[in-house]
Amino acid sequence: MSHQTLLPGSTSARGQQLTLGVMGGGQLGRMFVHAAQAMGYFTAVLDPDPASPAGRVSHYHIQTGYDDEQGLAQLMQRCDAITTEFENVPAAALLTLGAHRPVAPASHCVAVAQDRVKEKALFVDVASAHPDQAVFPAPYATITTPELLAAVPGDLLPGILKTARLGYDGKGQVRVATRDELAAAWDELGRVPCVLEKMLPLVAECSVIVARGADGACVHFPVQRNLHRDGILAITEVYEEKPASGLDFKAINATKFIASHLNYVGVLCVEFFIIDDGSADGALVVNEMAPRPHNSGHYTQNACTVSQFELQVRAMAGLPLVPPRLHSPTIMLNLLGDLWFAPNGNLRAPDWAGVLAQSGTHLHLYGKLDARRGRKMGHLNITGPTAEAVRTTAQQVCALLGLPPL
Ligand code: ATP
Ligand code: MG
Repeated sequence: MSHQTLLPGSTSARGQQLTLGVMGGGQLGRMFVHAAQAMGYFTAVLDPDPASPAGRVSHYHIQTGYDDEQGLAQLMQRCDAITTEFENVPAAALLTLGAHRPVAPASHCVAVAQDRVKEKALFVDVASAHPDQAVFPAPYATITTPELLAAVPGDLLPGILKTARLGYDGKGQVRVATRDELAAAWDELGRVPCVLEKMLPLVAECSVIVARGADGACVHFPVQRNLHRDGILAITEVYEEKPASGLDFKAINATKFIASHLNYVGVLCVEFFIIDDGSADGALVVNEMAPRPHNSGHYTQNACTVSQFELQVRAMAGLPLVPPRLHSPTIMLNLLGDLWFAPNGNLRAPDWAGVLAQSGTHLHLYGKLDARRGRKMGHLNITGPTAEAVRTTAQQVCALLGLPPL
């Protein structure tokens, strides 16, 4: 259904408080709900887990599976527009919802992000359509049959074998150096459709978040530098350089080209690698996209004039998409469940009092009841007057929490 303006504080044609819905009840859904509620909307979350972080804070929580017909019907009945907080929501469910309500992003955009084979083909198409500003993915081969496995070009090794579907936080990936290792890895992954990507010499990783409206207006956040540990995002740093570097412009433009190619509505994140190609700046390679707000954009809650979650609300409600401005240099630290374990393995509470005594710290916890190693429990945004000041605070916080120094 097409997008109309859903003005905050008004009632819908059905006489209800305007309600924004989200498929998925994780932390991204929770922060979306907070942003929507701050602007006066009611919210509805569909997630089977009664204790889901977003379900707990939403006006309505529909506790069914993502493809449950009754659950989807309830969500449509409640909501004036619907979004998703994770890409593995069944694309068919979004198609059903989209027939009756505005859904942002649309099911075809989510379907591309669910499948690395489709996603890489899209990246190649978009790069080919903009030859003077092309950003290609890593050299890769699709592996769906033993014949394609045997035909993989040798120059893709050493590489990383990634399942086409359902990978996240480095899961569903195996690093392989030889053809034998590749064959064994494909067996290990259950011979499901995969892509083999050439292992690239990464200098750094970054991402770009844009928000695009139904009218085609597209705004962007500054380029975010990301550090991963064990395949999971650990740190995002944003200090806007003036003037922005050529690579930054290229990454922002590439993200906008992808959004406009898909006729995307909503918040979109695209991840990039910066690789050593012998040049001073390095070269840009596009890695993957997330059809939603992204962990690397959490700093926008405290360091920007408008957050990625508010932009998601604005995009789906047809409100103006103002260009966000970074008003503080910032560092975001992910808070994984590991921090809740003392060196002897006993559970402990992290030293929040010590952390919050530092100027410019903004704590976000997701309301998850049990800490597990590797589980995203929250994040800490740090802002300050200068990049140096932010780094100094971040070092102090890392020491207090037992995180490795920056
Ligand atoms: P996410 O949680 O971001 O969805 P994911 O599990 O889908 O992650 P990728 O983003 O594809 O996985 O890869 C995870 C990390 O592994 C990357 O951020 C990067 O550090 C490393 N990596 C992935 N592909 C390559 C490559 N071709 N060459 C070198 N390093 C890579
Ligand atoms: Mg990734």
